[in-house]
Amino acid sequence: MDIPGFAQAALRLLNEAGYEAYLVGGCVRDDMLGILPHDFDICTSARPSEMQQVFRDFRTIETGLKHGTLTVLVDGEPLEITTFRQDGEYLDNRHPREVVFTRNLENDLSRRDFTVNAMAFHPEKGLVDFFGGREDCKRKVIRCVGDAATRFTEDALRILRAFRFAARFRFDIEEHTAKAIFDKQHLLQNISAERIASEMNGLLQAEGAAEILRTFREVFFTAVPALRMPEEVWHRVLQVLSCCEKKLPLLWSALLHPLGAERAKKVLQSLKMPNALLEDVYVLLAYLYLPLRSNRMQYALMVIGKERTFLLLSLQQALDNAKCPGNEEENAAWYSAMKEIAEALLASGACYTLSALAVKGNDLAALGIQGKAIGETLHKLLEKVVLGEAENDREQLLRLARNMK
Ligand code: ATP
Ligand code: MG
Repeated sequence: MDIPGFAQAALRLLNEAGYEAYLVGGCVRDDMLGILPHDFDICTSARPSEMQQVFRDFRTIETGLKHGTLTVLVDGEPLEITTFRQDGEYLDNRHPREVVFTRNLENDLSRRDFTVNAMAFHPEKGLVDFFGGREDCKRKVIRCVGDAATRFTEDALRILRAFRFAARFRFDIEEHTAKAIFDKQHLLQNISAERIASEMNGLLQAEGAAEILRTFREVFFTAVPALRMPEEVWHRVLQVLSCCEKKLPLLWSALLHPLGAERAKKVLQSLKMPNALLEDVYVLLAYLYLPLRSNRMQYALMVIGKERTFLLLSLQQALDNAKCPGNEEENAAWYSAMKEIAEALLASGACYTLSALAVKGNDLAALGIQGKAIGETLHKLLEKVVLGEAENDREQLLRLARNMK
């Protein structure tokens, strides 16, 4: 395993102080799968106060210390170092009643969710794999450590984690684990909206999302009841989803499009998603069929704005691809031509907002237009400009405005 210097240094310091220390979890798994790990987590027999002692000369962040995690900055890189833990009894299908520290690595690994996530690695001692994680990486399966039904009862969020990992690595979910997911799906009702939302976001962006959403349809309907749709609608949705770029506004719009803009927005609200996403999805669905031909592009820019015009082009492309498989290339050519037209309009400084219009409110006031009529007239003028019925020229617009009085 290729271990960066800062992680090696931390392992060495802990070892020299007489503690066990290993790389653990995602980084060991990712390395085994030939993926570059995005962070390197360490687990150790050192207790929190002992870790603080070992890293006394380093900058540390102690927010997770109660749960045994100390973040240490080594060469400017943050490393999460966590005391070997075993979880006590679980409450509410999500949280262990108490965190118990242990000096035993196997205990720590046995509380982890899936075999592929329960491996540790030491530069000299090599791989520690009590539960067959390496074999499951080879066979491409997600399997619970221990009895799957028990593990999902302890923490039902693991159901959605299984989906996310399976979709990301295009793994299958092992038979017993899959059965336990179906048996224990009702426990997802006890998981907070925020956690469901963040796992769903991770899942949707993963390569194999559509496959998981197809196989475990019922489980998703349990997790997010508003998603429940007739089978054929769900299948169409998943086709669109598979054709989408991996951007959240597009993915959520694809998933929710049969509900329409209003209901889609409510679903995202109930998942406590950020407002920006909510608004993007709302607008994309409200204007799903807005024509984005070349002579209407400036109009689209006016109605939904620059970023959303490009998103809508992508979404419409995914819808078209899903509707007529085999036409992808032709569609791609057409949509990239449309994007070029939009880019060219923007580059030429085309007017598509009131602030770019060559006349302002006070120009209209000077003509004797008053109150609400000012805003209305400005909008009418802008509309004429974006539809190509008028130039963005001050004199011409003033003349038009006079005629509109
Ligand atoms: P990612 O690449 O998505 O960060 P990861 O494996 O690092 O994947 P994290 O959520 O960062 O996943 O968690 C780190 C490790 O902690 C996991 O590999 C797993 O061993 C353990 N873990 C995390 N959440 C749970 C959970 N809910 N139940 C059991 N073990 C968990
Ligand atoms: Mg991680």
